[in-house]
Amino acid sequence: SANTPRHSAAEAALSPAELDWRSDDNANEAPYSTHYDDVYFSRQDGLEETHFVFLEHNALASRLADWSRERAFVIGETGFGTGLNMLCAWACFDENAPSAARLHLVSTEKHPLTREALERVWHGWPTLVDRARALIDQWPPAVAGIHRLALSERVTLDLHFGDAAESLARLDGAVDAWFLDGFAPSKNPDMWQPPLFEALARASRPGATFATFTCAGLVRRGLAAAGFSWQKVPGFGRKREMLQGVWRGNGLAEARASQPNGESEPGSDALSEALHPRADAESAAATVAARAETPWFHPPAPRRRRHIAVIGAGIAGASVAAALARRGSEVTVIDRAGVAGGASGNPQAALYVKLALETNLQSRFYLAALLHTQRWLARLDPERRWWHDCGLLQWAGDRNRRDRFLANHSLPETVVHAQDDALRYPGAGWVDPVALCRTLLEPPGIEWRRDELHSLRETENGWRLQLSGHALTVDQVVFATGHASRDWLDGLPLQAIRGQISTLSVSPALTLDEVHCAGGYVMPPRKGQLTFGATFTPNDDSNELRLADHRRNLSELSRTAPALGAALGEIPAESLGGRASVRAASPDKTPYAGPLPDARAWRQAYAALSKDANRRFDTPGVHYPGLWVSTAHGSRGMVSAPLCAEVIASRIHDEPLPLPRELVDHLHPGRRIIAGLRRGR
Ligand code: SAM
Repeated sequence: SANTPRHSAAEAALSPAELDWRSDDNANEAPYSTHYDDVYFSRQDGLEETHFVFLEHNALASRLADWSRERAFVIGETGFGTGLNMLCAWACFDENAPSAARLHLVSTEKHPLTREALERVWHGWPTLVDRARALIDQWPPAVAGIHRLALSERVTLDLHFGDAAESLARLDGAVDAWFLDGFAPSKNPDMWQPPLFEALARASRPGATFATFTCAGLVRRGLAAAGFSWQKVPGFGRKREMLQGVWRGNGLAEARASQPNGESEPGSDALSEALHPRADAESAAATVAARAETPWFHPPAPRRRRHIAVIGAGIAGASVAAALARRGSEVTVIDRAGVAGGASGNPQAALYVKLALETNLQSRFYLAALLHTQRWLARLDPERRWWHDCGLLQWAGDRNRRDRFLANHSLPETVVHAQDDALRYPGAGWVDPVALCRTLLEPPGIEWRRDELHSLRETENGWRLQLSGHALTVDQVVFATGHASRDWLDGLPLQAIRGQISTLSVSPALTLDEVHCAGGYVMPPRKGQLTFGATFTPNDDSNELRLADHRRNLSELSRTAPALGAALGEIPAESLGGRASVRAASPDKTPYAGPLPDARAWRQAYAALSKDANRRFDTPGVHYPGLWVSTAHGSRGMVSAPLCAEVIASRIHDEPLPLPRELVDHLHPGRRIIAGLRRGR
């Protein structure tokens, strides 16, 4: 449930890398870990070592040159460190892969470097400095969890901050090639343990390869026991030996059975077989076992995704369209009310989250979403033309609650800190949602139509959509029509929540540095307009403007920003402009993002849950093939929708997901059916 804590504060807190800087004979500086007493790389020949050990022994250049699949090639790594390996893999991709190919990098790091340390590492490193810039610009704060960075139009990096074995065990996705880095087993024995090797096996595509600089017995035995075959080959420079190999299993159990003593002589043609796979063994065997206790959440198999329709051109639809187009789908976006014509159409929207006092699944999702949206906006609009990370002050109630919140979450000051009686989110702020949605719909792969969906049906060629006066057939459909999604979502519980904002023309002399939130919010004035609000009226789907709501906003304004309220003086409600719209909310206030469940099939298959809430099942959930939903973003869509868009686009394109499995499941549109059955309904 949303209230189950999964992390204590201590687990969520990350300790940063402890570094020393050492110079070689040529006065080249390189970072050295004082904690592990080991080098990150050799400044003299670190590049060649990375190429030799990780790239060549995964045959990366030739595999990327031959990569013709629709999905991205996926590389996984233990120990991101400075990013040297991943930047080299990216360069190798750019040099070798065909123009339609994409690369997805997944790397784990338990002790992230600071941005300053990365600057120091990459300063003046001629061959990789431009790529390092993209990494440094988007470098996330030291917060446990997954941070998705768009390194280029075709290259994505998911940084999993946390322990490698724990992170990879919760990875929702599968890997083609592994870089097993992370300090020598003699210096870091805790990492090179069975749980890591098992997680690697679970997250391997059939035929996945690995390479590692070490040849330690602990590593050989661990890999073999998890189903990898390995081969000793000459190491780099003065190092005598290293390991390369292939994952041979189709499941952990089978792999174990075929290698009873755990130590196998390597099958020398296993690597060549993996490099030139016969039939396309693409089934993501890795994810099958992962949801044994929650088979309903098992994702639908990947299907054709050349042309996708997105219904709804608000923040949910526009962000999903952009995410799909980036991955090569042709996207048609349909909305009867125009771009951002619904709940996304206010002049300014706050990047606002209300994190729970204790961490829980919902609060972990919103924190990940806030960090993601901030990074994503900075990349979309680096000049801050239509958004601003001016900071956001949220009145926490009282100091005691505020301090408990900060202690429970233990987040870096750059994410949230105390200021007076409030919590301050320095990287949050506001967005102009209309400008954002327009920008998202600009790329060439996206066609936007003002039109209305009347009906849809499944045909042999895909989903046939009946629009006003004409029809359109597509491979898949994403519903992102907020509250209006109800018509299409097979009874998915959605509540209408009416919200009215107020606007007031103000003189340029009136300023407000940050967004202020309490019961309501008030934005820094923009283009001579002050925007504040919003009312919150459940089960009301009217979008007429009401004087009573303006009055409520005015009185809330003087509570939220008293000094500003005083400066404005008495304002007649009649003099205000405004806008009212209807937002959609789910009963548990978490958005819905994922495949659309067939509600009747779920109720039948899992009916026994109403008698025994812990009953186990083998049958995966039945979904409408190719139908997806992103809705119930409530009044926090600017924060939640972009990450939900990545969740959906990643799943449709058969890529690793940007959230750990339990958070992906927390967003699943079928969760209320299961909760209902368990409560005996
Ligand atoms: N691949 C890196 C590069 O290209 O710069 C060099 C990696 S450095 C030799 C090893 C890294 O593994 C360090 O950054 C260290 O913090 C990280 N590490 C150590 N133990 C770990 C664990 N259990 N989980 C995740 N990362 C770990």
